[in-house]
Amino acid sequence: MTAAFPTERWFWFDPPFHAGRSALLHKQPDDIWRIDLQLDRYADPAVEKQPENVRPRIARMLGHDKFEFEWISLYKFQCRRMDRFIHGRVIFAGDAAHQVSPFGARGANSGLEDAENLAWKLDRILRKTSPEALLDSYDIERSTAADENIRESTRSTDFMAPNSHQEARLRKAVLSLAKETEFGKRMVNAGRLSVPSVYDSPLSTADRDQWHGGPRPGASMPDAPVAAPSGEDMFLTDAFVLERERFALLAFGNGADHDLPEGMGAIRIGGEGGLVDSQGLAGRRYDAEPGTAYLLRPDGYVAARFRHPTRAALDAALSRACGLN
Ligand SMILES: Cc1cc2nc3c(=O)[nH]c(=O)nc-3n(C[C@H](O)[C@H](O)[C@H](O)COP(=O)(O)OP(=O)(O)OC[C@H]3O[C@@H](n4cnc5c(N)ncnc54)[C@H](O)[C@@H]3O)c2cc1C
Repeated sequence: MTAAFPTERWFWFDPPFHAGRSALLHKQPDDIWRIDLQLDRYADPAVEKQPENVRPRIARMLGHDKFEFEWISLYKFQCRRMDRFIHGRVIFAGDAAHQVSPFGARGANSGLEDAENLAWKLDRILRKTSPEALLDSYDIERSTAADENIRESTRSTDFMAPNSHQEARLRKAVLSLAKETEFGKRMVNAGRLSVPSVYDSPLSTADRDQWHGGPRPGASMPDAPVAAPSGEDMFLTDAFVLERERFALLAFGNGADHDLPEGMGAIRIGGEGGLVDSQGLAGRRYDAEPGTAYLLRPDGYVAARFRHPTRAALDAALSRACGLN
């Protein structure tokens, strides 16, 4: 159907056309609109999916019946995870390991993060450059991320489909406050979008220097616009990908070259031949001073950071991040 609704996602709580339940409207390409209507928890899927039962609900929402169906389906959601993601030689990732409600874009995103976390570890183990025990960190890091996703997703779900009178009362109060106050608007929880989790990981080397910001060990690398030495605009993560996603030292130049462990990539900002921090954002996001350096893991997470790294400190941090000590 063609419609002039805006591109942004719309969310209704308890609208007149679907009393007591929530509704969502998402724009899709090619004049397709995704509409989600919450149903009674005891609804019979076979009955609810019949087009003749769906049509009047959508017509009530839109105020007309000039639409065709592309696809009708039902989904249920749940928030749960396996106790452990590794069982002998079987490793679980994605929805097989953990499930969340779809509000917050955490399901597929966290599945991809699992894969990124696992891939480089398996690669090292298969090449025998790291011990099998490196896989324990997959379980530690990704199960903590799953807990965070489940916690956030459960909060959104409880707001959208209150389970008790208290939750319903809270939602009613928030929605009425949202009409008039900024803080009320911020309390409306139709899904908090996922951001990468920060790991408290055995692979991280604790900070020894003073930091006033920037990603701490266990956090994913922030991106920033930079310019290539040729002057071409690019992003810092492009430079990381060019390093073939191996361990890499992101160094903010002070004129000195680092003595890098064998196989470690190098991304230099500033100085001759380095990337140019044209907008000053990389330096700000990494709390950088001349000499600052971040050791990045192959999945783009910070393993360690230094104001002035020495070769011995880099060797030790790399060993730790590879599960070697
Ligand atoms: C309505 C809705 C909206 C969503 N929106 C988002 C979103 O905006 N962002 C987001 O990040 N996530 C979203 N999700 C969640 C996302 O879809 C899932 O988290 C994601 O698809 C999980 O991917 P997966 O590969 O782990 O599992 P699946 O996508 O379930 O893939 C598993 C595959 O394995 C196959 N399979 C199963 N058993 C076997 C077998 N024995 N042999 C061979 N194959 C088998 C299945 O057929 C399936 O193709 C949404 C989910 C829903 C329901």
